[in-house]
Amino acid sequence: MTARSTLLLAVPVSWAGLWTAPLAEMAPDLNVVVQGRDEYDPKAIDYALGFRPETGLLASLPNLKAVFSLGAGVDGFLVDPNYPKRIPLVRFVDHQLSREMAQYCVMHALIHHRQQRLFDTFQKEKKWRQSVPPRRTDDTRIGVLGIGEIGTIVAKRLRDHDFKMAGWSRTRKQIPGVESFAGHEELQKFLNRSDILICLLPLTADTRHILNAKAFSQLPKDAFVINVARGGHLKEDDLIAAIDSGHLSGATLDVFETEPLPDSSPLWSHHKITVTPHVAAISDPRVMAKNAVDGIARHKVGKPLDNVVDFARGY
Ligand code: NAP
Repeated sequence: MTARSTLLLAVPVSWAGLWTAPLAEMAPDLNVVVQGRDEYDPKAIDYALGFRPETGLLASLPNLKAVFSLGAGVDGFLVDPNYPKRIPLVRFVDHQLSREMAQYCVMHALIHHRQQRLFDTFQKEKKWRQSVPPRRTDDTRIGVLGIGEIGTIVAKRLRDHDFKMAGWSRTRKQIPGVESFAGHEELQKFLNRSDILICLLPLTADTRHILNAKAFSQLPKDAFVINVARGGHLKEDDLIAAIDSGHLSGATLDVFETEPLPDSSPLWSHHKITVTPHVAAISDPRVMAKNAVDGIARHKVGKPLDNVVDFARGY
């Protein structure tokens, strides 16, 4: 790096060390200040790195040049009505993260498909039951909402387990063994053929509450839902109603409208819902730090940044 730049790290202060240590090691010339911990002059901030910065923070930095997200999803930035859209926002794209997301999705699709929860119950009751008819894998249709960086890997991994795969996106895809549905006109057709539905969409104005009563009614009877995208995609009450009515067979949820999930949430104790605490993939802080350091180095020599968010699309 040439002239010394200053990066504002906008994360909870108690977690800051996860990123300050690798940043200091990888970019000793970069001056890092932690929001809420260090005194700083807003005019001195060149770059920002964070996940869900407080509303108005980024707009208050007059010399900001680029913002780096610690997450693949950038909804935590775009909820800020004052986000300065002249400043490029770079989202976090990492193959290891995508592979871990795929591992989670494959695991929960297989747990459902192989009826493992039922056998867990039989084991608790010391029942030797072989009578549950296994469902044919190549007759089981899985649909992935969002065939982007992560959804594509998820679809390919499940295709390699012999499931009948399809994906839904804004634009048409050509992935061998994965039928492509595109746009709102094809959403119902896509839902009609999805025995297992996996949500991997970004949270935008278009996709908020896309997992709702109407969508569930368009899924086949006994369909199963896996939401690993954002809690804002799901109308939680509609999901519970669709399961309790017997239409859906259950769900696995990693993300929630309110996180941490409140003790009072009925999702915790629903016997057909598996809850995990937003852990489908945990990004490596070193890789996140490297993403920002590499981006800053590119920006400083005038090279274009990768994975810049399109504010008009919202992802
Ligand atoms: P991405 O590469 O931007 O892919 C997004 C996909 O969604 C694209 O295929 C896009 O279609 C499609 N899409 C967006 N808006 C749409 C709309 N209105 N109608 C139809 N399709 C639409 O995103 P990604 O990196 O795969 O990440 C997806 C999401 O996963 C993130 O936004 C984040 O919320 C979530 N995530 C969760 C965790 C976790 O731990 N639970 C970890 C990482 C990520 P086009 O291809 O046509 O543009």
